[in-house]
Amino acid sequence: METLDSLPEELRTRFSADQEKAQWLYAELKKAFGMPVWRSPMPAIDELISTILSQNSNDHNRDIAFERLRKRFPTWDAVCDADVDDVIDAIRPAGLGNQKGRRIQAVLQQIRREHQTLDLDFLKGWEQEKIKEYLLQFKGVGFKTAAIVMQFSLGIPAFPVDTHIYRVTGRFGIRPLNMSVEDCHAYMENLFRPDQYEAGHLNIIRLGREICQARKAQCERCPLRPHCSYYAEQCS
Ligand code: SF4
Repeated sequence: METLDSLPEELRTRFSADQEKAQWLYAELKKAFGMPVWRSPMPAIDELISTILSQNSNDHNRDIAFERLRKRFPTWDAVCDADVDDVIDAIRPAGLGNQKGRRIQAVLQQIRREHQTLDLDFLKGWEQEKIKEYLLQFKGVGFKTAAIVMQFSLGIPAFPVDTHIYRVTGRFGIRPLNMSVEDCHAYMENLFRPDQYEAGHLNIIRLGREICQARKAQCERCPLRPHCSYYAEQCS
């Protein structure tokens, strides 16, 4: 995990207040939604490919594309060696097939060339920052994808920030509004404890999908209202 020392000075000055609010948020969402669990964990290489498919897509279409890919090519080696047009065709339901198909094949080919395997378990022995750096080198793999693979497949603590988490944490007020999505990952990893990452990540996403939606924040039914900055400024 990146330490606070690596964050800019102005963040360090507001950190304690943000952390206190983040802990309150965590407890309230746990009361409201319980302890969620991630869908069945997949091998890291599967999660990596699935997360690339999910970009600019939704869970349903991502899953259809992933299933079609696995059905047409029974092994990741087969995807590596396939005609790229067949890969593109298999993943079409996820959208951006041309771009994602080429990227998926390039990622697999590079991993196999460099490590003679498509099993990413070799990463488990590496340090957290080195794993992140390794995953981020691939085109199409950003902070969110790297963090999902680490947290949910490799068992290495990381807090993935998607569009819902970015929006909710900004409105609720546990980060500066102008913070970049990349910096938000490191900040969340400091606001929450590693054992809170999974439930925190999943419950904030649920709040973002069901209540604090992009088009309209339904503050009247939100459990976070008592300490929400957006609510205090806009609605009270
Ligand atoms: S109170 Fe409103 S703005 Fe704040 S987190 Fe809840 S829904 Fe979002």
